[in-house]
Amino acid sequence: MTPQPNTPLTTILEPERHIDVIHHTDVLVVGSGPGGLAAALAAARAGVGVTLVERFGCFGGNLTVVGVEGIGWYRHEETVEANGIGREFETRAFAMGAAVPESQSESYEIDAEGFKRVADVLVEEAGIHPMLHRMFVAPILEGDRIAGIIVESKAGREAIRARRVIDATGDADIAARAGAPTYLTPKEQMMATSVMFHLAGVDKTAFLAGVASDPQRYADWRGGGEWDIKTSGKEDEMFSPFLKKPFRQAIEAGLIPPELTTIAGTWGAIHDSGELTYMNLIHMDDCDGTDPDDLTRFEIEGRRQAMLAIAALRRFTPGCAGARLRNFGMTLGIRDTRKIDAVYNLTEDDTRNEGRFEDSIGIYPEFIDGYGLLVLPTTGRYLHIPYRALLPKKVRGLLVAGRAIGGDRIAHAATRNMSACAVTGQGAGVAAALSVKAGCELDAVDIGAVQKELDRQGVRHQ
Ligand SMILES: Cc1cc2nc3c(=O)[nH]c(=O)nc-3n(C[C@H](O)[C@H](O)[C@H](O)COP(=O)(O)OP(=O)(O)OC[C@H]3O[C@@H](n4cnc5c(N)ncnc54)[C@H](O)[C@@H]3O)c2cc1C
Repeated sequence: MTPQPNTPLTTILEPERHIDVIHHTDVLVVGSGPGGLAAALAAARAGVGVTLVERFGCFGGNLTVVGVEGIGWYRHEETVEANGIGREFETRAFAMGAAVPESQSESYEIDAEGFKRVADVLVEEAGIHPMLHRMFVAPILEGDRIAGIIVESKAGREAIRARRVIDATGDADIAARAGAPTYLTPKEQMMATSVMFHLAGVDKTAFLAGVASDPQRYADWRGGGEWDIKTSGKEDEMFSPFLKKPFRQAIEAGLIPPELTTIAGTWGAIHDSGELTYMNLIHMDDCDGTDPDDLTRFEIEGRRQAMLAIAALRRFTPGCAGARLRNFGMTLGIRDTRKIDAVYNLTEDDTRNEGRFEDSIGIYPEFIDGYGLLVLPTTGRYLHIPYRALLPKKVRGLLVAGRAIGGDRIAHAATRNMSACAVTGQGAGVAAALSVKAGCELDAVDIGAVQKELDRQGVRHQ
């Protein structure tokens, strides 16, 4: 019997239906952030057919849609790292006029808008089949093997079949829905979420004079809210593009409500055009990035807080009196959600004590940033990232790249960083490509051959 439209129901039965298979590929990468973009490029460069699916209208993930521009802000003279595609993002962006030297490090600050075009060019050059504006909604499972995905878009529901799938959604969406064990950080322990924004109309000379007259240090990251950060000590006296004082002054002046003590953080780049970008100042707790009701609430609350922050900057920060909002990140910045319980989960000990693994797919410098801890790679110390941290349990044909790989909290405070996501992406892409070529399972892929191809692609893994 069909219920009346106003009958309260707790579930409905979705009818079975046939879905068109619109595309076949060797390696299907879902999500195009630093993890997914690197995975797709690496697999294509290893010589297989690659398709890259993305729910939004551009590639880049947080780099473009949130506006996280600081991909290498940890880099100092002694830092040793994998290079590979993560480094190529910076150098290619700079060559295309989409990056400027970064203020606290030996790196480039990427321009979030310009990188949209850089990513298009990289995808085109590698011969990757691009599929924007399609959202993964369900895996296609054949027994315990993933054989593709179902997407939703303006065209309705469609199926894409693939020989290997790489989940680079950041949230392990595919792994979770395919039945691989995953876990969600408890909401009260999740890293804060941010509405990122960029300003126009800043007087660069006056702004930099203000910074020079009152330079901030990493030691200033202590004391209050998200910015109660413990360093390893050696970072304390180093310069940081940190802003907190204007917001304290604004509270005293009644411009910001007294309870809103969490507004503080870093600025990214100041451009000759008067743009002050990558304003990472809004930090909000208790947002579960897999819950659309939370996402809705915090998008709106974040924009409210951002406008208060801008009012404070205009009043109390040199060079900012004529500043105005240029744009918000297109979507909320989520740092911390689901991770897979991988075949090997990286540990705090691996991260702090130079973990070494025979199945290393790339090195990562001793850079830990999250859960109240900051360690900068000002020495040559580094860890290996093992291939097994990308391998989910229980589902064949699937790898995970980016911030959802297996590891504990402190391991994630390292591997969530965009350059680490690119390392895991490149490793996943190469492994998926070689497993297609060899016709073997992902857990049986020849690690020596993967490392040889990574060598050819310019990745340091030892
Ligand atoms: C505010 C903020 C500041 C940060 N600052 C820094 C920093 O300074 N330096 C640094 O290195 N890192 C920083 N990070 C962390 C870093 O940005 C992320 O950890 C990193 O981008 C994760 O990369 P990823 O490829 O795993 O995922 P993402 O960059 O999140 O990309 C995932 C992609 O998958 C797509 N996607 C998701 N679900 C689906 C679906 N169902 N179907 C289709 N597509 C889907 C998304 O649209 C997105 O494009 C910051 C993060 C935030 C939020």
